[in-house]
Amino acid sequence: MKRILFIGTGGTIASEITENGLLPGLGPEQLLKYVPGLENLCSVDFLQLYDLDSTNIGPDHWLGMAKTIRENYALYDGFVISHGTDTMAYTAAALTYLIQYSPKPIILTGAQKPIGFDTTDSKVNLADSFTAACWDGMHGVAVVFNGRVIAGTRASKTHSKSFDAFSSMNYPNLADVRDGRMLQYIVPEFLPGPLFYDKLCPSVGLLKLTPGGDVGLMEYMINRYDALIVESFGVGGLPQTGGFHDLVRRAAEEEGKTIIMTTQVPNEGSDLAVYNTGFALAGSGRILEAYDMTTEAVLAKVMWILGQTRNSDEIRRLFYTPVSRDILSMK
Ligand code: ASP
Repeated sequence: MKRILFIGTGGTIASEITENGLLPGLGPEQLLKYVPGLENLCSVDFLQLYDLDSTNIGPDHWLGMAKTIRENYALYDGFVISHGTDTMAYTAAALTYLIQYSPKPIILTGAQKPIGFDTTDSKVNLADSFTAACWDGMHGVAVVFNGRVIAGTRASKTHSKSFDAFSSMNYPNLADVRDGRMLQYIVPEFLPGPLFYDKLCPSVGLLKLTPGGDVGLMEYMINRYDALIVESFGVGGLPQTGGFHDLVRRAAEEEGKTIIMTTQVPNEGSDLAVYNTGFALAGSGRILEAYDMTTEAVLAKVMWILGQTRNSDEIRRLFYTPVSRDILSMK
């Protein structure tokens, strides 16, 4: 029988009603009381790592989760982490970079409704997560939610209220879970031993362009952060008035800042070279482009890369080297 470590971090799934809104309070052992029959699938140990709404989770917590998995890696066949949905996609991406090519499944799940509610997605999401964590063909980090198994670098929260909260962006689901059975379409790559990392650089900002937006905000963010992700419009570009182009090119080419151009359109990714508004940026050789990556994955990947190196050629090489199929079509 497989041995699974169940790590609780909080979120709606573990929340209870208080006078001041939903608040995480239930531990992982209490959660599993709602999932009968699990003892026939696997043996489970519990660990309460955090008790947080995921709005409060950040890079230090990602490092904490990776460390916990690293310390327990040899003892278990798989890991299930219960987590708030709001930032779960960021955590999934970050764990994918911190624990690369894991042969053992590391499954993140949560719920849109607390486990104690009459109508809740908590129980099925938990049961599906243990099914995925026990599945021989499952490797590495994935989000399991509403019957979908989504690669850790491809998940995005696309619905704020309904049970169908997560989508796999620009990439198919790895698997679906139907009535406790895995329908697996893609077998993730793995190595006999995973690569663990223990450093992230949190100094990565994200700016969403708005029509008529002030270049001063971008200038402030470039000065404030080591790296800036710019979510521009459509396939990508910058306004041709106001000094945006000069600012970005100077930051990337002369000041050693890492600038990543991406799009605020959720599907299909960027292609800076298409329009004159982005053409020169695409040809700069120093400005990076996200192409089909999710913004969540870009943020986590750049934090991971800047945790390893400050050499701009190496930053570029690592950024464009796919990890768990995070970047596929560079067009
Ligand atoms: N605010 C909650 C959280 O992210 C939402 C949820 O879990 O669904 O922790």
